[in-house]
Amino acid sequence: MNLFHKGTLILQEREIIDLINQKTTLDKFLRQLYSVMEEGFGNFAKRQIVNPPRHEFYFNRGSVESMSASDDKYFSCKIVNTHKDNPVYYGLPTIMANGILVDGETGYPLMVTGSTILTALRTGVASAIATKYLSNRNDKTIGIIGNGAQSLPQLHAISLVRNIEDVYVYDTDEQASESFKKSAENLLKNINVNITSSPQEACSLSNILVTATCKDRDSTPVVRNEWVSEGTHINAIGGDAPNKMELEKSLIDRSKVIVDFIDQAVYEGESQQIPQSQIYSDLAGIVAGLCKGRDDDKQITIFDSVGFAMEDLQVYKLVYELATKENMGNIVKVSSIPKYSKNIYKSYFNI
Ligand code: NAD
Repeated sequence: MNLFHKGTLILQEREIIDLINQKTTLDKFLRQLYSVMEEGFGNFAKRQIVNPPRHEFYFNRGSVESMSASDDKYFSCKIVNTHKDNPVYYGLPTIMANGILVDGETGYPLMVTGSTILTALRTGVASAIATKYLSNRNDKTIGIIGNGAQSLPQLHAISLVRNIEDVYVYDTDEQASESFKKSAENLLKNINVNITSSPQEACSLSNILVTATCKDRDSTPVVRNEWVSEGTHINAIGGDAPNKMELEKSLIDRSKVIVDFIDQAVYEGESQQIPQSQIYSDLAGIVAGLCKGRDDDKQITIFDSVGFAMEDLQVYKLVYELATKENMGNIVKVSSIPKYSKNIYKSYFNI
């Protein structure tokens, strides 16, 4: 039976949460995601995944992007927005995502799914993979600047690869930091979360940094060069659009820069501040062993993460497999199969 005979799986975000809560655990799911994404980076290095740069459409209050990728079996496309006033004005997340997985052999849609949580988890896992390959092995402290929706999955995923003991957080919205602290201490039993009074304090106390702010599109840095100690590894995830950057240029100049996807990073990431020749490698090159990670324990490394479609393709394939196995979601024929494939008027209107 070809995959399309099953019809299209409609998977609501709520059902993904049920799948994670009832059929596995969040920890287990994150580990599975880690493994398929690491494999995805490896395949990307071998050019087995096709991934054009995403398209962005800019509106008054935010932006919407379409992100597509394919391997030898599947195609996926995700629609994702960034509307930073959403939490305050509408009670909606800043980032919301929805996606479709398509059978590469026939083009038939296999799954349509909400992907806001999946986006946060895969972004956390990308940082975790970068942290495993780039940070110092014994790093135990992490600073997280910007304590919104992405921040907890960042900590959760990074704690899979490093034995984190102390977390230093900073957000311009103190309530966001307090909410983060409560959930983080529920999630990970042996950590201390400290709310700091400035980004400088969070930076100076940490070996690993995550910047996950949703700031305006300007180059005012969230992290200044002088605050960052030798040996720090930085996962910069919040600067992910033209003119939206979090790190001071002199900090980038002082560091080894690894990007997730060069074709986007040069105009969306921190790397838009530097010539392309200053980017050392993409993460895929490091994962595949084509390039070395950090050179010594004093080097500062930056993972310039903008997010790219390969990551979503890997997530969708995993979720499709798990949901199908567990009979989650509803199967419908989103695309109907006409009786006469070359005469759709006869099939549908009896003409
Ligand atoms: P969010 O709105 O839920 O949280 C952002 C937080 O940043 C808010 O709590 C806000 O108060 C805080 N903030 C804004 N300016 C700040 C500053 N100067 N200093 C400290 N805190 C500040 O947004 P989110 O969903 O957590 O997303 C965060 C960022 O990550 C966004 O810019 C988003 O575009 C980006 N993102 C990147 C990827 C990727 O793959 N790289 C994926 C998803 C989201």
